[in-house]
Amino acid sequence: MANKVWVFDLDGTLMNSDFYKKPAEEAYAEIMRALGDKSPSFAEIKSRHNDFDKAMIYVKNPSTGKLYLYSKQRFPTSLVKFYEMLCKEAGAETDFSLMRKLYNIGLKAFKEERYIRKIKAQAFTVAKFLKGKGDTLLVLTKGDKRVQGDKRRALKKAGLLKYFDDFIIAPDSKYGFFKLIRSRYKGDAYYSIGDTYADDILPAIKAGYFGVYIPFSLNWKEIGKFKRIERRRSKKNSNRYDNLVEIAEKYDHL
Ligand SMILES: [Mg+2]
Repeated sequence: MANKVWVFDLDGTLMNSDFYKKPAEEAYAEIMRALGDKSPSFAEIKSRHNDFDKAMIYVKNPSTGKLYLYSKQRFPTSLVKFYEMLCKEAGAETDFSLMRKLYNIGLKAFKEERYIRKIKAQAFTVAKFLKGKGDTLLVLTKGDKRVQGDKRRALKKAGLLKYFDDFIIAPDSKYGFFKLIRSRYKGDAYYSIGDTYADDILPAIKAGYFGVYIPFSLNWKEIGKFKRIERRRSKKNSNRYDNLVEIAEKYDHL
């Protein structure tokens, strides 16, 4: 039987990736309460903080001298700095105890229990199915080593990791890792499954994989671009599915 090698993306693919939504909303409510009449609306806070947090990805963290990127400090820090900015705009005093509180609310996004809850039920179904076929399964995720390492532990605790032969964290582009996997794991066919076309599918196709693109409505890198991506998607070297289980359903045609 042919051995297939499946390389899964993590955030937005095996896990729902709205890690920040609930802690962010809790923090916005605190900010609104603190600013009272001087507070912008919830919708305005949400949209502006979103942009603010994304912009901070490429800001240097003064305590490490490196860019914040996807580190654990960025999101809690962005809540605090955003609050300071709103205080300045409103001509209000900043409250240091609230700043500490906002930081701690931000840290909740990285809690293990939350990560476990974010694992998709279908991830178990499809991983069990593919393992049952004797295939090779890998996780290849882009991001911060510590943050993604915490998610790895959550996958282990939840009982999902046992289906995977490796869990690889790519600090930047996945392309080199797609090539490395091909040399390390012998297979008759290679597949990359992910929710970000530019990160998970395009470089994989370039490395000789077949892409399984499963868009995720909350993927901020693709919001507003879904139609354009679908128009440009390689129909020859990739399929677009609605969910993970379609991989099992269409296994014989892949
Ligand atoms: Mg993803």
